[in-house]
Amino acid sequence: MVLGSTGSIGASTLEVIRSMPERLRLVGLSAGSQWEKLARQVREFKPRAAALADVRGRQPLRQALGEVEVELFFGSEGVCEVAGLAGADVVLNAIVGWAGFRPTLRALECGRVLALANKESLVVGGEIVRDALRRGGTILPVDSEQSAILQALRSGRREEVARVIITASGGPFRGVPQRELAGVTPEQALRHPTWRMGKKITIDSATMMNKALEIVETRWLFDLPVEQIEVLIHPQSVVHALVEFVDGSVVAQLGVPDMKLPIQFALSYPARVEGPVQRLDLAQLGRLELRGADPEEYPALKLGYEVARKGGTSGAVLNAADEVAVELFLGRKIGFNEIVPLVAAVLEAHEVRQGADVEELERADRWAREEAIRCLAQS
Ligand code: NDP
Repeated sequence: MVLGSTGSIGASTLEVIRSMPERLRLVGLSAGSQWEKLARQVREFKPRAAALADVRGRQPLRQALGEVEVELFFGSEGVCEVAGLAGADVVLNAIVGWAGFRPTLRALECGRVLALANKESLVVGGEIVRDALRRGGTILPVDSEQSAILQALRSGRREEVARVIITASGGPFRGVPQRELAGVTPEQALRHPTWRMGKKITIDSATMMNKALEIVETRWLFDLPVEQIEVLIHPQSVVHALVEFVDGSVVAQLGVPDMKLPIQFALSYPARVEGPVQRLDLAQLGRLELRGADPEEYPALKLGYEVARKGGTSGAVLNAADEVAVELFLGRKIGFNEIVPLVAAVLEAHEVRQGADVEELERADRWAREEAIRCLAQS
C-alpha cells in the first residue's frame, strides 16, 4: 500500500516496486489531488483500491478509469480507509504534512507494518504514536537519517547507546550569514544541492526546519532522551546517521543520496536485497566532511530541541506554523529569512498542553495556523 503515491517519495517507491515484481505487489494507492497521475498509476499497477483526498477529482477520476476494476475511495476518510485495507502487509505513508497523521494511526490500529516517510506523524502526535507502538505496532522509518539509525542500532543493544547523530547537508545556503538571506527567492530555495524532493521538504531543508522536525521524529521513534540526539552538517549527504555506543565505537550508515535505498530497506526489512540503487563510490567521492551545527547559524534547530523536550501539543504547533510559513514563502508573501522567526513566534505564543488526544492536537493545529496569520498581520 502506498499513500502519497503521486509525490516524490511515492514515485521512488513505485520505482522500487517496479524493480521487484517477484517480491512486491501493490494492493492500494492514494493521492491528494493529482487524479490524472493516480489514474495512470492504477492502470499500470492494477491495485485493488485507490483513494483520492481531493473530492473535486471524484468524477474525472471515475471517468478516466472507466471499466478498470478498482475500488475507489474519496476524501480524507477515504485515504484512512485504504490505509487500513485488509491484505496489505506494509503501508508506506508518503503523504506530506499534517494530512498524513490520521492515516498513520489507522494503519497502526489495523495492525499493518508502517513504513513511515511522513515524519510529521511523529512530530504532531509522537506520544500517541508511541502508545500505538507499545500496543504492538511496528514502524519502519523511510526518512534516510532514521533508517540509518535503525540500521546502525543493529550493532548493539539499546542500553549500550550513548547518542545518535543525524546529518544535514545544510541546504543550498550553507555558510551564508542570516542577514544575507532576505532576498532569497522560492526558485533559489527549491534548488537543493544533493536531494531531489517535494517542495515542502526542500524548503524545510533550506531553513533547517527539516532537521528540527527530525530531532522530534527521532526522539519519539526511538524513544530517546533529547540530550542523546545531535546534528552534524555533512554537505555530501552520504553519511546519513551515526550511532555512538557507550564504549566509544561509532557505527554509521552510508549510501548515495537516493531515497530508493531507505524505501527498499523498509520494504524488504529485515532482509537486504539487490535493488535499483547506484553503488556508493567512496574513492571517487574523495572526502567526507562533518562539522557541528551551530544553533546561531541555524535557529530552527533550537525550535526542534525545544519541541522534542516539551512534547504535548508543541509538535502540532511547530508543524502547523511551519506548513503555513512555507506556503506564505512559496506564495512570495514573506521572505525566506522570515520563515523560522514566524514559526518561533507562534510557538512562543502557545501554551503547551500535555496528554493531548487527537482532537486536541487538531485544535492546536488549527490554532497555530490562525496564529501564524495573526502574527503576520501584526508584523
Ligand atoms: P510531495 O509533495 O512530493 O508528495 C506529497 C504526497 O502527498 C503527494 O502524493 C500528494 O498528493 C499527497 N498529499 C498532499 N496533500 C494530501 C492530503 N491532504 N491528503 C492526502 N494526500 C495528500 O512530498 P514528498 O514525497 O517530498 O514527501 C512526502 C513525505 O515524505 C513528507 O512527510 C516528507 O517530509 C517525507 N520525506 C521526503 C523525502 C524526499 O526525499 N522527498 C525524504 C524524507 C522524508 P498530490 O500530489 O496528488 O496532491
